[in-house]
Amino acid sequence: MGGLLRKKVKFVLKKTRVAIFAVVLFHEATWLNYYLSNNFFNYSFPSQERLLFERAYGTSLEAWRSDIEQNPHTLTVLSEVLEKEQQEHSFPLEEIVLVSKNYLKQSFPQQFNTVIDDAVGTYFKKRISLRLSVCDEKFYLETNDHPLKTILQHEVKHAKTFAITDIKFYARWKALCRNQEKHSLYTDDATPEVNWRDIPFEQSVQLGFVSSYARKNVYEDIAETGEFAENILTSREDGSYPGLELMIEWLYTRKSPVIAGKIALAQEYNIIPKEFSEFVWVQKLYHDAKAHDSYIDTSKVTSFLEQSERFLQKHPNSVYNIYVHNARGGVFAAQGIRDNEKASFRIALEEWNKGLLSPYKDIDEYRDILHNMQGCYRWRMNEPCIASVYTDAIKEFEHRYLTGDVFLAKRGVNDLLYRCDVLR
Ligand SMILES: [Zn+2]
Repeated sequence: MGGLLRKKVKFVLKKTRVAIFAVVLFHEATWLNYYLSNNFFNYSFPSQERLLFERAYGTSLEAWRSDIEQNPHTLTVLSEVLEKEQQEHSFPLEEIVLVSKNYLKQSFPQQFNTVIDDAVGTYFKKRISLRLSVCDEKFYLETNDHPLKTILQHEVKHAKTFAITDIKFYARWKALCRNQEKHSLYTDDATPEVNWRDIPFEQSVQLGFVSSYARKNVYEDIAETGEFAENILTSREDGSYPGLELMIEWLYTRKSPVIAGKIALAQEYNIIPKEFSEFVWVQKLYHDAKAHDSYIDTSKVTSFLEQSERFLQKHPNSVYNIYVHNARGGVFAAQGIRDNEKASFRIALEEWNKGLLSPYKDIDEYRDILHNMQGCYRWRMNEPCIASVYTDAIKEFEHRYLTGDVFLAKRGVNDLLYRCDVLR
C-alpha cells in the first residue's frame, strides 16, 4: 500500500511540475513579447500620433499599436481629459499605461493584476494605468461618455491629491467622515470588516459620500468626489442630468453639509476648479428656466443672464466658460424666436462665437455650438454661405475626433473657421 501511495504522489508531483513549467514558460514568452514588441519597439520607433500626445501633455504613453495607432480615437478621449485637468491645475504625471484587453499582450504585473485584482485604473508614483477591458463592460457603457474618460479623471484626482503637501488637508477631510462617536466612517477602518460593495448608494449619500466606493478610504473619497464634480454635465438618453441634479441638491436645495464641506476643500486645494460651486449655481438657474423638453421659458431667464455674465467677468479663463456661453446663446436664440427678430439671434451668435474661443473646448459642447451656429445662420439669419462653412467645420471636427487629434479640446477647428473668416 505504502509503495503504491508513494508512486501516486510521485506521479502527481511530476504532472504538477510539468504544469508549473508550462505556465512559467508561457508567461516568460508573453513577458518577452510585451517588452520587445510593445515597449522596445514603440520606444525606438514612436509614431507621429504618439509623439504629439507625449509632447502636448508631457507624459509618455505605454500602449500597443493596436490600441493607439489602429484605434486613434482613444488619443482624443485621453487628451480631452488631460487638457481640462491641466487647465484647471497642473499635476505631476510621467506615464500613462493602457493595459490591453488581450491577456497575451499584458506584462507580467498586468497579468498578475488581471487575476487577483479588479481595479479598472490605478495611480502609483506619477504613473496612471488604465484597463481597456472596461470599454467592453456593459456597466461602463450606461452613460453616454467614453468609459476611459471617467476612469482617467478619477486617477488624475489621485495624482492631484498626492501632490498636496499641506498635512492639514487630510485631517480636515477625515474630520468630515466620522460618526457621532467620532469613529471613522471608512470601510477600510471598520472592524469587523465591511465591504463597500454591500452599502447602498442612498445610505452612502446620507452619510456625505458621493458614491459607495468613496466609503472605502480617504483617498478614494477624494478621487470619487473630484470625479463626480467633473461629470455633472453628463446627460442621460432622456435628456436628464442626474449628476447635476444631485449636486444642486447637496449644495443648494436640500443641502448636505458634509458633501458641501468636501467640495469646499476640493476647491481650496485645487482638486477641482475654485469656481465649481458658483458654476453649479449658474447651471441651476439655467435648468430652472428649462422645461422637460429642453424648451427655454424666456420669462424665467433674467437671473441666469445676470449671474452668468457676472460669472464670466469674474472667471474669464474658467474651463466652464464654453458651457456658460453655449447656454447663454441658447437663451438669446429662444428670445429671438419669441420676438421674431434678428437682433437677439445676432447676440446668440456672439455668445456661441465666444464659446468657440473659450480656452478649454469640451468636445460635446464645441460640437453642439457648431450645430447651433450652422442652424442659426441657415434658418434664422438666411445666410446659406456662412452656414455651409459651419457644415464643413462639423465634418472636419468629426474627422479630427475619430482620427486622434490630441489638440481638439484646445483648438477645436478654429483654424478652419479663421481661414474662412467667420471667427473673430
Ligand atoms: Zn481610486
